[in-house]
Amino acid sequence: MKPFEWTEANSNAAAAGTVTIADAMVVTNGQRKVSDPTVVKAGGLDLLDLMKEGLLQPRRVVNLRGIAGIDQIAVQDDGALRLGALATLARLAADPLVQPYAALADAARSAASPQIRNVATLGGNLLQRPRCWYFRSIHHHCARKGGETCFAFGGENQYHAIFDHRGCAIVHPSTLATALVAFGARIELTNAQGIRRESALEEFFVLPSKDLHRENDLRAGEIVSAILLPRLSPGARSAHLKQAEKDSFDWPVADVAAVLETDARGVCRRASIVLGAAAPVPHRARAAETTLLGKPINEETARAAARAALNGAAPLTRNAYKLPIFEAVVRRAILAAGAA
Ligand SMILES: Cc1cc2nc3c(=O)[nH]c(=O)nc-3n(C[C@H](O)[C@H](O)[C@H](O)COP(=O)(O)OP(=O)(O)OC[C@H]3O[C@@H](n4cnc5c(N)ncnc54)[C@H](O)[C@@H]3O)c2cc1C
Repeated sequence: MKPFEWTEANSNAAAAGTVTIADAMVVTNGQRKVSDPTVVKAGGLDLLDLMKEGLLQPRRVVNLRGIAGIDQIAVQDDGALRLGALATLARLAADPLVQPYAALADAARSAASPQIRNVATLGGNLLQRPRCWYFRSIHHHCARKGGETCFAFGGENQYHAIFDHRGCAIVHPSTLATALVAFGARIELTNAQGIRRESALEEFFVLPSKDLHRENDLRAGEIVSAILLPRLSPGARSAHLKQAEKDSFDWPVADVAAVLETDARGVCRRASIVLGAAAPVPHRARAAETTLLGKPINEETARAAARAALNGAAPLTRNAYKLPIFEAVVRRAILAAGAA
């Protein structure tokens, strides 16, 4: 690992002020050069991996962990639940205020291992870089790193995207994002002047067809300060299910969050179905949502919605196996939310 300077930030704005650019990726052909790359560190799990692999060579690392209050979880005056960006996954899994958002608590509980969840933070989880093995290889100058080729299309693509993969076939790595998007979460960003801006988390993530070189709309000089979850409507129920190759600390090959609102007769009034490990961003299955509206939640409607969730899927050479897995996981997530 190359030597770097270490800075402790003591406020959101101070941290944002030190960030000249959040992207210090080393590129193999040397075309993209950043003069003063500074990166922020939360838990450091992904950041240090990238630095050790030689993919990231920042001149300065700014530690966010000393910022007072940035890990707090609290209900705001408007009823929204504010999740501080440095709240750990373990805390999100266990905090009583998070439990009504069952799909989120489950997503946090099912990600990685207990040791990782004790260190990994909400902000870091949402902004971790893609797990694609070509992106993570110093020997592959892939399209996302400024090259010409997405090696996944002609290569080992069994864990890659089945939707929206024009130009790059990564899947979004964050399990928490799947649940947060289903709840209509908003992301709060703070800049060096202390000015906050908010956007829908769903819109914060960027598809490769829009910009191949970034996964999100984090701007230079900004940090993520919090995630805001809207107050739950009466009758809202949720579930998150993750299917991986093995039960312990494995990445999902498919994960699904379902948030349903039903009336007193059990008829679905609102549905939000989001697929993780399916696309370069959390994938909203709108056709599945529409299929459920005005209907009771039962085996038949869940099955129809699960089929609809795969509308537009375009599997690659080695990942068509994901289609029946997603169909089963969507159906089960809808039934689990309906029974919650
Ligand atoms: C074996 C293993 C299994 C795993 N399984 C899963 C899984 O199933 N699901 C899952 O979701 N994840 C999984 N992970 C990934 C893990 O959850 C992430 O690496 C972790 O959440 C990153 O959080 P962090 O706080 O350590 O981030 P860091 O490594 O500190 O940061 C990650 C990135 O975000 C940026 N960043 C961090 N915080 C902020 C902020 N507040 N504002 C602006 N930029 C910021 C950093 O600059 C960096 O680019 C797994 C990891 C391992 C090693």
